[in-house]
Amino acid sequence: MLQKTSHFMREANLIDGEWVQADSGKTIDVINPATGQKIGTVPRSGGAETRRAIEAADRAFRTFRKTSALERSKLLRKLHDAIMDNQEALAELLTIEQGKSLTESRGEIGSSAAYVLWFAEEARRAYGDVVPSPWTDRRVLVTREPVGVIAAITPWNFPSSMLSRKIGPAIAAGCTAVVKPASQTPYSGLAWGALCEEVGVPKGVVNIVTGAAGEIGDELCANPLVKKITFTGSTEVGKMLIQKSAATVKKVSMELGGNAPFLVFDDADLDRAVQGAIAAKFRNSGQTCVCTNRFFVQAGIHDQFVEKLAAAAHALKVGPGLEDGVQQGPLIDEKAVEKVEEFIGDAVAKGGNVVAGGKRHELGGSFFQPTVISGATRDMKFMKDEIFGPLAPVFKFEKEEDAVALANDTEFGLACYFYTGDLGRAFRVMEGLKYGMVGVNEGVITTPEAPFGGVKESGLGREGGHQGIDDYLDTKYVCIGGL
Ligand code: ADP
Repeated sequence: MLQKTSHFMREANLIDGEWVQADSGKTIDVINPATGQKIGTVPRSGGAETRRAIEAADRAFRTFRKTSALERSKLLRKLHDAIMDNQEALAELLTIEQGKSLTESRGEIGSSAAYVLWFAEEARRAYGDVVPSPWTDRRVLVTREPVGVIAAITPWNFPSSMLSRKIGPAIAAGCTAVVKPASQTPYSGLAWGALCEEVGVPKGVVNIVTGAAGEIGDELCANPLVKKITFTGSTEVGKMLIQKSAATVKKVSMELGGNAPFLVFDDADLDRAVQGAIAAKFRNSGQTCVCTNRFFVQAGIHDQFVEKLAAAAHALKVGPGLEDGVQQGPLIDEKAVEKVEEFIGDAVAKGGNVVAGGKRHELGGSFFQPTVISGATRDMKFMKDEIFGPLAPVFKFEKEEDAVALANDTEFGLACYFYTGDLGRAFRVMEGLKYGMVGVNEGVITTPEAPFGGVKESGLGREGGHQGIDDYLDTKYVCIGGL
């Protein structure tokens, strides 16, 4: 199984076009969460390797910034084709290190390719402005230029597609990059290095360093050659990166935690809502920042919804991601399982009813039963904290305004979802929800054409959409006088 993926499974850093080990020779083990077995190792790098990667990116930037938009667009098209030509091998590698089902991995690799294609197109549309001048003898131009070296830090839940939203716009804009993938899932990140090499991305344009997160992060934040940090991960680490980047006033884009509400009104199409609920909750075993954290269901439809959701959750096939028909793989590690158990214990102690699952799966390891809890109340931990696991808590509500207030009662504001058949309500609720993304009668809404991102403490900046390249470009105003 590993043989098929071996071309992409790189166990080294990519710095200035060379695959190299950590200076210390130390490594980190990478574990398959479905078996608990070691897959391989990656370098345990620190500040020195990161500095060299940044310097390589800075040297590469001097020439890469002068390439034409068309040239970079063609490069990204080739990258898109290479990803799709190797979709199966990349998906297997992703499942082996991350745990998600092969179907979901194929989807993620497809999504990576789709983002790259989108940015191949956007590369040619990074328009500036010619502004009507207030002076008769001067002209006013606004141009956009690549910011320079960017640093990308990515999480383990979408180790491929989170990079596509960062490497894609970086190359499109003419920036160069230093990438740090999560240590649990580094191979899908390193595979981007192999793909970039294959399609002829010049050396030093994309550098990848694995290892000690704190040391690598500190160098990325402190080094003045890095002009922008783009991060997807926890709010806690994101806040720290913003603080550390302040010393050199870097641009920052942050895709942080969520606490997605999912509202179901009495007038909703029940079956459609249940179907959307399953997709919005149990995708990637609940380990996505846009996964539903809290279900709010109106009293008239509540009991039926709970019954149907519990049945659908119970029917999900749990198992190793490579097995046929599996819909839910293991959680990333033991810590993630303990966290879900803690949420369940807290809810049960406060009067919640487990109506599906509730326990570790009989497969052992980090497999967990898809779980539904009814009778959720505001004092339970998941009202405020992100679950990041296959647990669906259901709250009952009576009035529309109460549901919207409950949904907004969080410091997060990433994705939210609601189901209704009433047009007026659809507009009222959509406008009332303080979130960066809203699914109306839809549970899965991410697409490269639309801006992904949050408000409040869920983040800064947008990835995808025409907005997705903005943070990789500096705006320059040029006044031409003496005409
Ligand atoms: P999660 O809880 O989902 O693992 P994290 O925010 O801890 O989320 O991790 C997301 C990414 O941030 C990973 O690549 C991780 O290695 C990295 N990271 C963690 N701590 C730091 C840090 N102090 N500085 C820079 N990056 C970090």
